[in-house]
Amino acid sequence: MRIVLLGAPGSGKGTQSQRLVQRLGIPQISTGDLLRAAVAKGTELGRQAKQAMEGGRLVDDALVLGMIRERLGEPDTRGGFILDGFPRNLAQAHALDRLLETVRQPLQAVVQLEVDYGELVRRISGRRTCADCGRVFNLFSAKPAALQGELCPKTGAPHRLTQRPDDNEATVAERLRVYDEKTRPLIDFYRARGLLQVIDAEGEVDTVTRRLTAALGAATPRRTTGRTRAATPARSAARKRPARRRAAARTASARSPRATRRTASAKSPSRRKTPAKTSKAAGRRRRAPRGKRR
Ligand SMILES: [Zn+2]
Repeated sequence: MRIVLLGAPGSGKGTQSQRLVQRLGIPQISTGDLLRAAVAKGTELGRQAKQAMEGGRLVDDALVLGMIRERLGEPDTRGGFILDGFPRNLAQAHALDRLLETVRQPLQAVVQLEVDYGELVRRISGRRTCADCGRVFNLFSAKPAALQGELCPKTGAPHRLTQRPDDNEATVAERLRVYDEKTRPLIDFYRARGLLQVIDAEGEVDTVTRRLTAALGAATPRRTTGRTRAATPARSAARKRPARRRAAARTASARSPRATRRTASAKSPSRRKTPAKTSKAAGRRRRAPRGKRR
């Protein structure tokens, strides 16, 4: 699944991206990481980026897009990707649209992580990143004892927690202002394209992950590429089911777009889950005998 996560600084995009990488088995594409990797590898794009950064200039959008394009050529992105930190403004969103169209990997879902302004400030100022493994921690949401007891997978020593220079409270307000001005308009951009899901990103990390995966499940039918399913005799049935669900979703959205949007909201996960599960199980029961005969 090809996903863009949107959200203000501190909305938990990084943490939730890490969760999605685990759950969906698709890579996270962070433009910051791409830039650093390209510079380290000394590729042509990397050399240009390095020149720009050393000259104190912003790295050109075309350069970043070039790196994304290269990254999308790697085989691990065939099952999809999570784009994190890009696009940040409308010009980038348009350019990304064109690029993804060219490589025939259009976005399938854009999820906006909504968090209250005061909570954002609190989260950002408490954020620490391990200098070795890159994992993100928060002093306010994780117990320090748990942090100290845990060893870094990279070094085998405790995580080395550092604060990003732009995470201090003095710069947070400015970053949020820039976000409101430049990035927030992307919400309407993607809503107009029928890709947008908005979730409440406050609360426990696990809770937000559940809302996020529910929103993604509502955005497009799950691909049936799972190994377990492919190995069962009910394989053909498993293939048919999503198509039917897709048709149902289309009908529903044609009838009432508002209702569909409400379904995707994070407020009522339990109500949404139950009927889907029931019909899925029923479908499997009905179809299993036919599968066995084959
Ligand atoms: Zn670490």
